[in-house]
This record gives sequence, C-alpha cells and structure tokens, in this order.
Amino acid sequence: MSSTVTALNLAGKALTPGAQRSWWLREALAAEKDVEPRPLKGDINADVVVIGGGFTGLWTAYHMMLAKPDLKVVVLEQDICGGGPSGRNGGFASGWWDELDGLIALYGQDQAVRACRALGDSINAIGEFCSTHGVDAWYKHAGYIYAATAPQHDAVCAEIVHLAREVGAADELRALTAEELKARCASPAFRSGAFMRDGAQVQPALLARGLRRVLLERGVTIHEGTEVTRLDPGPPALAVTPGGSVRAPKAVLAVNAWAVGWPQLRRRLVAWSSYIVLTAPAPEKLAAINWTGGELVTDFRTSVRYFRTTRDGRIAFGGGGGRASSRIDDSFTRDQRAVAEAADGFRRLFPSFAEVPLEDAWGGPIDVSPTHLPTFGSLAPGNVYYALGYTGNGVAPSHLAGKVIADLVRGDDTDATRLPMVNPKPRMFPPQPFRSIGAAVIRRAIIAKDTAEERGVRPNPVMSAIARMPRRMGYLLGP
Ligand SMILES: Cc1cc2nc3c(=O)[nH]c(=O)nc-3n(C[C@H](O)[C@H](O)[C@H](O)COP(=O)(O)OP(=O)(O)OC[C@H]3O[C@@H](n4cnc5c(N)ncnc54)[C@H](O)[C@@H]3O)c2cc1C
Repeated sequence: MSSTVTALNLAGKALTPGAQRSWWLREALAAEKDVEPRPLKGDINADVVVIGGGFTGLWTAYHMMLAKPDLKVVVLEQDICGGGPSGRNGGFASGWWDELDGLIALYGQDQAVRACRALGDSINAIGEFCSTHGVDAWYKHAGYIYAATAPQHDAVCAEIVHLAREVGAADELRALTAEELKARCASPAFRSGAFMRDGAQVQPALLARGLRRVLLERGVTIHEGTEVTRLDPGPPALAVTPGGSVRAPKAVLAVNAWAVGWPQLRRRLVAWSSYIVLTAPAPEKLAAINWTGGELVTDFRTSVRYFRTTRDGRIAFGGGGGRASSRIDDSFTRDQRAVAEAADGFRRLFPSFAEVPLEDAWGGPIDVSPTHLPTFGSLAPGNVYYALGYTGNGVAPSHLAGKVIADLVRGDDTDATRLPMVNPKPRMFPPQPFRSIGAAVIRRAIIAKDTAEERGVRPNPVMSAIARMPRRMGYLLGP
C-alpha cells in the first residue's frame, strides 16, 4: 500500500479497487443462496435477447415481462448481474431538474419538463417495485442536496434554482440557506446550497440482485458468465457467445460503457471512470453533523463529488480522478490515484471524520455522452434497441429507459416513447485517436480547475481554457 494511501488513514485491509466486488455487491451476494453463474450452452431461440445484466437490461426485461408475461426473454451477462456499474454506483436515484439547461437547449422547455416529470415517476416506481416484490434495497426518498464548495459554484447553484423557478418547478428544486444546509449536513466546506425533491438512495447491488431474482421467478432466462462476442442484427438477430447463441427477432444492447467496443455506438460516448471510498461505521459522527435524514449530496465541481450515508452509519464518497479510455480495462477498477483523490475529497469535506478509517474502495466506468444526458432508441435495421449516455446518472434513468425500450420493442406509441430523448438525431464525439486523447486531457484539466477553485487559488489559465473546450466545440459538457 502506498504511503499516500496510508497517510489518508485507510484501514489495513487490501484496498485495491476492483480486486474485489464492491462493498454493496458483497453485501448483496452474502444474502443469496445460489449465486453461481449459468453460462449459455448451446443454441436457443427467444422473442427478445438482452445483452447486459445491469439496470438497463434488467429493467427492460422487467417491463417487457410485465406487459407480456409469456414473452420469451433471454438476458446475457458477461459477468454477474450487478457486477458492473449497476452494482458499484453511489446509489443516487436522482432527478433531472438540475439538468434543465441542457434539456431545454436540446428539446425545448415543455419537453424538458415532461422528461423531468417522467424521471420523477421512475424514482417513485423503483420504490414501488421494492415494496411490491419484497426487495429490501434500502430505498429511501429523502431528496438531494447540492452544496457549493467554492465561490465560483454559488452562481451555478443560483442558476439551477432560477431555471427550476422559470419553468414553474420551484417546489422541485429550491435554494437552501447556509443554515438550512447545515441542519441537513454540516461541513465547514459548504457555502450555499440547493435541495431537489427527486432523490432517493438505494443500495444499488441489492436492487440489481433483487431485480434478477424477480425476473428469474417470473420465467426470464438469465445466463451470467456469458459474453456476447458478436451481434448480427438480422432480423432475426443472432447473439453469439463462446458457448452458444441466441436467435431472436429483437435484441437490446444494454452494455453501458462497454459500448465503446460496439461500432454502431462507439462515437456516441467516451468512457470515464469514477471511484468511491467507504468509511467505517460512525453513526455518532453523522449525528454530530446532522446528517441523519438519508439525503444524497453532491458538490458543484464539474468532476462532481457525490456522497451518501448507509444504513449502518457509513459515508460512501465518490468522485476522484478517473481516467478516460477507449476500452474498458483495469484502469476503471484498479486506479489507486483515483482512490486517493476520492479519499482526499472526503477528508477535505468531512474533517470531523479524520479518525474514521476508510475501509473500502472501488471504481467503475461511466458512459459520458456529448450532451451529458442519455438517449434511448433503435439502431438500423430497426430491431436492435439501446440506451446509452447516462453520464454517471443512470440509476433512475435506466428504469425509464427500460420502460421506453419495452414499449419500442412491442411497437407501442406511448407517453414514454414520445419522450424527447427517444431516437433523437445522434450526437457524435470525434473519431479516434482524438476522442480518447482529447477526453483524457480535458478530464485532467477539469479536475485541475476544480481543485484550484476549491482551494481558493487562481486556476491555471491554460487548464481552464482546456476545461472549457468541450462547450466551445458544441458539447454540453464541462464548465
Ligand atoms: C463508481 C460509480 C458511481 C456511480 N454513481 C451513480 C449514482 O450514484 N447515481 C446514478 O444515477 N448513477 C451512478 N453511476 C452510473 C450508473 O451506475 C450507471 O449509469 C448505470 O448503472 C447504468 O446501468 P446499465 O445497466 O446501463 O449499465 P451496467 O451496470 O454497466 O450494465 C451493463 C452490463 O453489460 C455487461 N456487458 C457489457 N458488454 C457485454 C457483452 N459483450 N456481453 C455480455 N454482457 C456485457 C457488463 O458486464 C455490465 O454488467 C455510477 C457509476 C459508477 C461507475
């Protein structure tokens, strides 16, 4: 273990991110009886083949099954369900009211508000799913706090509050005074803040594994340990795996950041990483900073930091450095620098936890889209469906995506399929090698700018200029 990491007061256990399942997933698997993957063996037929057993694939299968219980759905997952970001994320099921500027720029005000309301319904529906099916995924709808940690962020905070008011949604996103902020979560680093009603915390791996259980109980076939190495769209589509194949009239690509490897999708995203550190339980320290309500919290850095509490009084704190890459490799799960950066952010924001050890750390890939928002739809020749570009906010949107794709698969024209992010004109990043090199350089520049602002020093003008490049190039990313 490096001296930097020791100095950050990590506990003695091996903290190599990715050397183990996320803490969430280990908790979830410990409560299950039979977790052995059953890889596909042989050639089978189905009505729909779903590639990817994260939230998108599982919610899609769930919504399809709800509408038509006898539909033969097969889910193929290379790892285990929830082994990817769906079982590794911060567990923020959060709304889009803070994304109004981007939504309005892309789709206009009415459609933007419609999309925000639809996502709010999805957050509630996740809670209903948990109670209906006895899935105890720690669902708690306690809202979402934004905390400004640098003078530059006060204006950003005021702007999101203003926009919500402008569109008639003042109740959805409102300003918090410094005192109100302190009463919910006190940190010496917090200045001003805002509160968004649409926010629920979940234990993400319990939700993913709970979904898997419900699907299996209702007859959906799930083959884990089954990598799809080729998809011929057909129709019918043919998903080829090392041990066999699935032939189905329709296919769903629910591969998230792994889409960097799929020619049809690769220019629609850049894969960045995000890392989480987890403290030992310290409920008395949480009480001392008034953070007992279960609110989700983020700051306003462009390389956002996000933090929430757990049932047993821990803090899970995400953010950190992260890398950009053109393929999903070890750098997304074994990046010690990113762990140290996340830990550094935690120590800075929560000095009263100085003696509380960090007990765990893990990371995963994020599918950053050119608009900071996901899109859902179909690919040529029309029988392959996708959802992509969550940009680190996919827990709630993947539920909405599942609903949209299930309706599209059935060919139904519904409120969901009429959402503005369904089959919009695709936005592309530049081709390689510019995409990966550009993303890596810009990512570091954004972090350098964020860090300087937070420390009250003047950001390096070159770094600031680089950080602003994506917006100058027409992407809805960066400061
Ligand atoms: C550290 C971290 C923190 C995050 N925090 C939050 C948060 O707090 N709130 C939030 O809203 N979002 C968060 N996110 C993002 C969120 O986790 C994702 O947007 C969401 O899980 C996307 O779900 P998905 O099913 O599309 O993707 P995934 O969960 O990535 O599922 C895709 C699955 O496809 C499988 N797969 C890929 N290729 C193949 C193949 N060829 N064959 C078979 N299977 C394949 C993968 O193994 C994977 O399991 C975070 C992400 C990370 C990494």
